[in-house]
Amino acid sequence: MSDQGILAVVSGFSGAGKGTLIRAMLDKYHNYALSVSATTRAPREGEEDGREYFFVSREKFQQMIEEEQLIEHAQYVNNYYGTPRQYVFQQMADGKDVILEIEIQGALKIKERFPEALLLFVTPPSADELKRRLIGRGTENLDVIDKRLHRAAAEAEGINSYDYILINDTVERCAEEMHRLIQAQHRKVSANLDFIGQMKSELKAI
Ligand code: 5GP
Repeated sequence: MSDQGILAVVSGFSGAGKGTLIRAMLDKYHNYALSVSATTRAPREGEEDGREYFFVSREKFQQMIEEEQLIEHAQYVNNYYGTPRQYVFQQMADGKDVILEIEIQGALKIKERFPEALLLFVTPPSADELKRRLIGRGTENLDVIDKRLHRAAAEAEGINSYDYILINDTVERCAEEMHRLIQAQHRKVSANLDFIGQMKSELKAI
């Protein structure tokens, strides 16, 4: 079996409940590491630097790009977001399955650079439900909600590039399904070539 962790990207419309799902999965299963992104967005009420994000200035973000500290970055509704390289590689080398909660442009860049990465897309059961959740969350003003819904329409076009879709009807069921899909990646033949090679040579030696 492979010792290296899986790189799993979780995307989904803003308000689809990805954050809640990922937290539910991490609470229950402990072989995961959640990557903390850098962003130029201002912290929301209750968010802490280094926990939800590393909140940085535009200048600092630019510097991180130049120093190749990010494995991908993207712009999303007036702000920049990016995935720090070092943590992801270190955790995967330690055998942890690393979760990137990132938007679609970043996800596609990850797939290009790491074809073995698993891409999961989370959606609520309907567009109406998405709007209800975004308004109900109460963290953004109506103008930003509107921009996020428009962005959702554009993002829907990219779903076909993902490996699996997760319909977030109930958190518990969906978190379990996410876990099972990620664990199935460990059983892929392409992730077990060393084991298979070993088995072949042992069989020949019998
Ligand atoms: P929010 O402002 O709601 O926290 O995040 C906005 C969007 O940016 C979400 O879709 C989130 O998944 C995405 N995002 C967060 N971190 C990253 C990142 O490091 N890279 C990319 N490409 N997107 C990110």
